[in-house]
Amino acid sequence: MNLLEVRDLYVKYRSYWYTYHVLDGITLRVSPREKVGLIGESGAGKTTLLKSILQILPPQGRIVRGEVLWKGVDLLKADKGYVMNVRRKGIGMIFQDPLSALNPVFKIKDQLLEVLRYSYDGYSKSELLSLAEELIRSVLLPDPARVLESYPFQLSGGMRQRVVIAMALASAGDLLLADEPTTNLDVTIQDQILRLIDRLVIERGLSMILVSHALGVVAKMTHRVYTMYAGNIVEEAPTPKLFNEPLHPYTKLLIENVPRISSRRLGEGIKGNPPDYRYPPPGCRFHPRCPYAVDICKKVKPFCVKVSRDRRVACHMYSEGLEKVDGDVNAN
Ligand code: SF4
Repeated sequence: MNLLEVRDLYVKYRSYWYTYHVLDGITLRVSPREKVGLIGESGAGKTTLLKSILQILPPQGRIVRGEVLWKGVDLLKADKGYVMNVRRKGIGMIFQDPLSALNPVFKIKDQLLEVLRYSYDGYSKSELLSLAEELIRSVLLPDPARVLESYPFQLSGGMRQRVVIAMALASAGDLLLADEPTTNLDVTIQDQILRLIDRLVIERGLSMILVSHALGVVAKMTHRVYTMYAGNIVEEAPTPKLFNEPLHPYTKLLIENVPRISSRRLGEGIKGNPPDYRYPPPGCRFHPRCPYAVDICKKVKPFCVKVSRDRRVACHMYSEGLEKVDGDVNAN
């Protein structure tokens, strides 16, 4: 059974004047101990997807329809107690910005104990304190006692991110959602943090959804990848296949535009901008930027087809003669 399955998920944001059609029928699955990558430009809806899974969208966000199945139970229909329990003991999330994830006026100890109290009810304060020390040690921070007595501003960016990882681990009994976990960190420590996350995920037998703009990192750390464009999953494939032989025009452009040390040419980026979510283009949302767009792309949303046993793509170029895969690229 899949650990997590998101089926045909639609999310909108409302402002006073406008409605933003952000997630447009997302389907995705994660198996036990599987590491899944989610790639795409900023604003593709990746963070919205992760927050929808945990139901922690900001007040303007609304899940319009779809299912989020956690071990077979739909979290969107489950009672609040069940969802809280999943947040306490099932799914942990590492947020993009370690500084905003930590409260500047409380010591690390108080913030970590708060999370642990939530996840380990019935434990005494001294038991929670030893758990906190153990977690701090597991993220390779020296002198856990000193770290626990520190305020966030007394730690470097890399140390704060390790604390945030420790907090996420406290509630990640089965799945870790890592949303750009190194975005605001110095390049020199990004690699250390990613290796640490990878090691902890493997050691603890967790599954992971890794959102990252660093395609090399996704290529190294994941088993399977989804490409997301403007609220749609447009391609799904095992990681080596997706990077060696991308099929969807958007995935191809993303990969072609990665700057490479061996090349003298800097990637020019993908021409055009992601669409305005208030008025997303009809048909394929990528058509205004796609070099292969033809008439049908402007009118009809491409459905997902299974192009091989483990690959699916949503593009008119591949749909001829193939049957629609219900839901999205990854339905069986
Ligand atoms: Fe390009 Fe058409 Fe495929 Fe969309 S459906 S990616 S516009 S070729």
